[in-house]
Amino acid sequence: MRKYVYVFGKGKAEGKAEMKGLLGGKGANLAEMTNIGLPVPAGFTISTEVCTYYYANKRTYPRSLAGDVKAALKKVEKAMHATFGDPRNPLLVSVRSGARASMPGMMDTILNLGLNDVVAEGLVKKTRNPRFVYDSYRRFVQMYGDVVLGLKPVHKDEIDPFEMIIEARKKSKGVHLDTELTADDLKDLVSLFKQAIKEKTGHSFPQEPMKQLWGAIGAVFGSWSNDRAIAYRKMYDIPESWGTAVNVQSMVFGNMGEDSGTGVAFTRNAATGENAFYGEYLMNAQGEDVVAGTRTPLPISMLAEANPKIYKELDKIRKILERHYRDMMDIEFTIQQGTLYMLQCRAGKRTAFAAIKIAVDMVGEKLISDKEALQRIEPDQLNQLLRPVFDLKEKETVIKNGRLLAKGLNAGPGAASGRVVFNAPDAEEWKKRGEQVILTRIETSPEDIKGMDAAEGILTARGGMTSHAALVARQMGKVCVAGCSALEIDYATHTMRVKGKVVREGDWVSLDGTTGEVIEGKVATKPSEVLQVLIDKTLDPVHAPVYQQYSKIMSWADKYRRLKIRTNADQPDQSSNAVAFGAEGIGLCRTEHMFFGEGKIGPMREMILADTEQERRLALAKLLPLQRADFEGIFEAMNGRPVTIRTIDPPLHEFVPHEERQQRELAGQMDISYEKVHQRVESLHEFNPMLGFRGCRLGIIFPEITEMQARAIFEAAANVQSRGIKVEPEIMIPLVGNVKELAHQEKIVRRVAAEVMQEKKVKFKYLVGTMIEIPRGALTADEVGAVAEFFSFGTNDLTQTTLGVSRDDAGRFLIPYVEKEIYAKDPFEVIDRDGVGMLMRIAVEKGRSVRTDLKVGICGEHGGDPSSVEFCHMIGLNYVSCSPFRVPIARLAAARASLMEASPKDSPRKSSRNSSRAKRKGRN
Ligand code: PEP
Ligand code: MG
Repeated sequence: MRKYVYVFGKGKAEGKAEMKGLLGGKGANLAEMTNIGLPVPAGFTISTEVCTYYYANKRTYPRSLAGDVKAALKKVEKAMHATFGDPRNPLLVSVRSGARASMPGMMDTILNLGLNDVVAEGLVKKTRNPRFVYDSYRRFVQMYGDVVLGLKPVHKDEIDPFEMIIEARKKSKGVHLDTELTADDLKDLVSLFKQAIKEKTGHSFPQEPMKQLWGAIGAVFGSWSNDRAIAYRKMYDIPESWGTAVNVQSMVFGNMGEDSGTGVAFTRNAATGENAFYGEYLMNAQGEDVVAGTRTPLPISMLAEANPKIYKELDKIRKILERHYRDMMDIEFTIQQGTLYMLQCRAGKRTAFAAIKIAVDMVGEKLISDKEALQRIEPDQLNQLLRPVFDLKEKETVIKNGRLLAKGLNAGPGAASGRVVFNAPDAEEWKKRGEQVILTRIETSPEDIKGMDAAEGILTARGGMTSHAALVARQMGKVCVAGCSALEIDYATHTMRVKGKVVREGDWVSLDGTTGEVIEGKVATKPSEVLQVLIDKTLDPVHAPVYQQYSKIMSWADKYRRLKIRTNADQPDQSSNAVAFGAEGIGLCRTEHMFFGEGKIGPMREMILADTEQERRLALAKLLPLQRADFEGIFEAMNGRPVTIRTIDPPLHEFVPHEERQQRELAGQMDISYEKVHQRVESLHEFNPMLGFRGCRLGIIFPEITEMQARAIFEAAANVQSRGIKVEPEIMIPLVGNVKELAHQEKIVRRVAAEVMQEKKVKFKYLVGTMIEIPRGALTADEVGAVAEFFSFGTNDLTQTTLGVSRDDAGRFLIPYVEKEIYAKDPFEVIDRDGVGMLMRIAVEKGRSVRTDLKVGICGEHGGDPSSVEFCHMIGLNYVSCSPFRVPIARLAAARASLMEASPKDSPRKSSRNSSRAKRKGRN
């Protein structure tokens, strides 16, 4: 019979850390902590296979499960010397979700389960602590009412119905804090809660503990498909098929008085990476109080003073965990009447800054190898390091001018300005309208996840460094200031008061997530530390610790990657930026971009509107020196590195004006009639321009264009070479589907190269190759490869033509397609491995069958996407080419791909979400 339930307790567990797939992260780590001798309250884990069964069988369970749960419960009762449902000595349990990947707060949790009116009275007798008992009971009824029976706020501005009852009681008693309510108040709350549940949902709160347990188990499995869990899974590419496990664990109580408490901590600072114990706790509190942000907790350093014995024990556990897991861990603990218990541990979520510092430090501490360090950093996280920071001078000035509104906790580093909105749906809506927003909440909850994603920054009035807002913001790489208690937020009027000022919805504020400052209005930003060193060269690396860590990671990445990294650039400054980021060549210079530069569009339009070859040649002659100068600039910037230059690609109508006023202007400049201009522009109209007169088709019909471009490239090469700079031009012909197209263009290019060499009396090396961006080109790559000296996959067009999906019109249906999981990811961002990827494999294989040393790269947008880079590594490409700012990401992704190949078992986790959903691909 299949094993569905795994018990842990008393120093022995049936599971272990490696069993995350089956037991979820929480279950596997509870087992692991038990096995290494840490104090973990006994419990059991119902495996994710039950979740799969549950959804595949109309929300029912495998037949053997009820018996297994009963047996496991018996073992737990034995370990804890208490009995579930027995009023004299009751065992209470928590029921919590736990998926393979952590999904903080997205699914449901129920604490204190097993309490009912009789058990509560029994527990009062046993503990002689009625306040504790009724505080636990009211929390249980509240959670059960919400999670299992569905009594929760309906509208976005509504307050939780249970909180409303608590508030009313506090008001009538004239007290402010929950802790000021008496045992009798809490007992009353229990009845009021039960009444409200019955009235509003029609369900009665169940008194039978076993019924409570199955209700909770069902609710937790059910919460795998609640809206926020689904949204979170989408955001982080967590497959639906994984399912969640359910953990049933004996309760220990942090709310038993002032010698009890609860906390969460990171073994190092999750925001900065500093090697210091970092966390928060609350005495006389339970479970979610710390993360929910309802009370602002105390920093863990205060525990050292308040309770040195517990602190010492905790610090010892911190060291044991770091040595055991060799990573920064996120832990949850409870102190029950002076005894410490561990309730959870998992690898801690961290900002990019922290990820890099921790990885580099741990290599220095010999805890991990440099290879492991690379596996600990998601390539997309590097984006955070390149983001702007506030200009310090400007910030000082605005603060002097009284614009500092408040200071909170620096929960998510970085700089963000935006307009204040007070709830998550508004954040989403405003963002859709193109607004930058700061999501401002008293505290955030898992429901806010999509609004948080839409916001530039997150600001909360309550909650600590480990609150939901802080945790999620860090993971998303969002700027966050949390626990800013000076803010008086009023959801009903969409305003907040602070320092006697009123900030209304739509007003601008700026958040410095590195210092915790909240500033009125906008504040100017400046480039990040890495950019100041590499690009602006305004900062000495000696004074740039973040840069130093970045640079170490990059040097390790370069040590292990096999793929070369090039860049897509068509300007000298772009090229030198890319080199500063580590680019080893240009993989795509789109020459058409140059035609929009200074003084070029006029002759370009003349060329397009010309009637005869002679007229066209006259216009091209004007363009020649301009293009040549552009190429010289690029060759100089690349200083000997290979440069792939593509001949003209887009449909010609993209270069001509379409409005009458501009057409008249052009007619004047060209000294021809408006009608002629108009007529010629009209004649360029195509129904399907992306499949029309573009790419090599232009150079075949108008060979003089290719001729001019080849001449500009080779003359530039000769000139730059004569200045002592090595050049290596690679001429690339676009949109080739038939080898004869390539052969036609190659002939022109080689003829011009020979002419220039003879005229200039120099010799230079060059290659002629092609883009593979049409399925026919890929399928006949053995023919194409006989002519081409290199291939470069144009995966933008290859995706468009393989899927039959217009890259310019896909937005309307591709997003819903991805939501419906027709495609797992947007195929214009992440290579569709089965379709487009298959064509790439075929092309590589066929191409190399006729030319073993065929150089193959990619220059489509996918060249900077970590998952696509991994695929390019797998199919044996020589290089990937991406935009300059994605070069560091590609370097790291390429190294991780190599390491994964070397040891797939400890491979990096699949890179999470493609950071750049915003990176909709246009042609530029
Ligand atoms: C491509 O199609 O992938 C490519 C790089 O070319 P462009 O985007 O310019 O069409
Ligand atoms: Mg293309």
